[in-house]
Amino acid sequence: MSTGLSETLKQEVLKRRTFAIISHPDAGKTTLTEKLLLFGGAIRLAGTVKGRKASRHATSDWMEIEKQRGISVTSSVMQFDYNGHRVNILDTPGHQDFSEDTYRTLTAADSAVMLIDSAKGVETQTKKLFQVCRKRGIPIFTFINKLDREGQNPFDLLEELEQVLGIRSYPMNWPIGMGKQFCGVYDRKQTQVELFQGDDHREIKVRKVSGYDDPIVKEIAGEFFYDQLVQDLELLDVAGDEFDFEKVRSGELTPVFFGSAINNFGVQTFLENFLQLAPTPTPRKSNEGMIEPLNEKFSGYIFKIQANMNPAHRDRIAFLRICSGKFERGMSVKHVRVGKDIKLAQPQQFLAQDRDIVEDAYPGDIIGLFDPGIFRIGDSLSQTGGVEFDELPTFSPELFSKVTVKNALKHKQFQKGVDQLTEEGTIQVFKTIGFEDMILGVVGQLQFEVFEYRMKAEYGVEVQLSRMSYQFARWLVGDDIDPGKFRINSQLVKDKKDNYVALFENEYALRTAMEKNPNMKFLEMAP
Ligand code: GDP
Repeated sequence: MSTGLSETLKQEVLKRRTFAIISHPDAGKTTLTEKLLLFGGAIRLAGTVKGRKASRHATSDWMEIEKQRGISVTSSVMQFDYNGHRVNILDTPGHQDFSEDTYRTLTAADSAVMLIDSAKGVETQTKKLFQVCRKRGIPIFTFINKLDREGQNPFDLLEELEQVLGIRSYPMNWPIGMGKQFCGVYDRKQTQVELFQGDDHREIKVRKVSGYDDPIVKEIAGEFFYDQLVQDLELLDVAGDEFDFEKVRSGELTPVFFGSAINNFGVQTFLENFLQLAPTPTPRKSNEGMIEPLNEKFSGYIFKIQANMNPAHRDRIAFLRICSGKFERGMSVKHVRVGKDIKLAQPQQFLAQDRDIVEDAYPGDIIGLFDPGIFRIGDSLSQTGGVEFDELPTFSPELFSKVTVKNALKHKQFQKGVDQLTEEGTIQVFKTIGFEDMILGVVGQLQFEVFEYRMKAEYGVEVQLSRMSYQFARWLVGDDIDPGKFRINSQLVKDKKDNYVALFENEYALRTAMEKNPNMKFLEMAP
């Protein structure tokens, strides 16, 4: 191919950063996202930023459930340009809409921003999402938010990162005071003080200093905070981790930034450092080895399928992460699993409710493809026809329900719906041994509701869900798997590929089973 394409491709790849924000509800993800978008120029939204709770959700009323709850079920993709970079933010659904999609979205990101409320520290959802990122070894950048409020001691927060998450940290800046007395941060790298102007926070004053012993720092911080600051920074210099770019890149060390998203304090510094340190689109594993983004042949995989984004269209949208080459509208690619050529004629991005057609896109970008029902989660599309990306991991469900169909005559429709929704990744399906009862497994309650709703709306089938008390699922690998061994507070079932899976009511039951079966493997994901 011409060197023209390879040069453009290189430029485009180098410009791009694709990341997801991981946090617990209420840490300030929506606020931070909005501030980041404000720095951007042209903004394209695939899906939508979560409505400002209720008021802005007019842009995402594609589904009844969403309307009822006033939240977005969608994990959306937002794109903006900043300082010559093109930034893709993958939104990860948070509140009750936490689901496997949230986890799967992380597989499409090259790095993650971990947002933490300074008063609450590391919370459960952050921990779960962190673990998925950790498994992938992607770089993680930490923003500790709400410094304008009374929070925990910064050292305690760093200690928590290490104790709870097992990640070392390097504070890029350090707060001067906190809560009502929050004066700003000391930027360790640029040796400057960024002042927090309580009322007029739009304008952030930056004072360049020679180091933290510069008299200006004392003047700004006041005697009391100055002494504390110097003590803290000396301790960090002596006992803290050194900044190590390689460790940041391998996800072993997280750069930490303190700030206040709602006041737009520290967000720009964060963004600029992030753009410098975060990786450009990274290669992805396939049956043909690692696929490099600079490979000129287009390839990508589908990580999420979403139904009925727009009530006026009853179609589905498949979200594809581009892994290599250039995407051009109308191009023909091989749908690898089914071995057919398809024309990518209607790639979508979303600007509010109007569908915005993408003309071209590059590795790291996410495009929405019109899906008449031909895609499954994990499907690969490739120009050469051969590339098949590694299967997406199946995440361990935490909630389980027995499902039956209310009207037995609808059994065929029921099965069709279940198959389809399983392929889309809405739910996971298990079967009891012998009786072949069907059990659904999910990681978030909303998945059950979406399942129930869509079975009725799209397949005309009313289902009955009865919650079971299991909390853990483990895929079993071993020679001697005996259902009789899983009777107390547990049950043996099979997944759709006939793998054995044991469900447990509590951690004690799980631990006991592991102790009793030392030669058996208990995997959190399907083998
Ligand atoms: P999300 O659930 O993580 O998306 O959180 P939101 O962005 O909706 O924020 C949750 C709440 O925290 C809202 O009331 C925000 O106004 C508030 N909030 C966000 N950032 C800050 C901050 O820096 N300081 C303070 N005091 N409140 C904040």
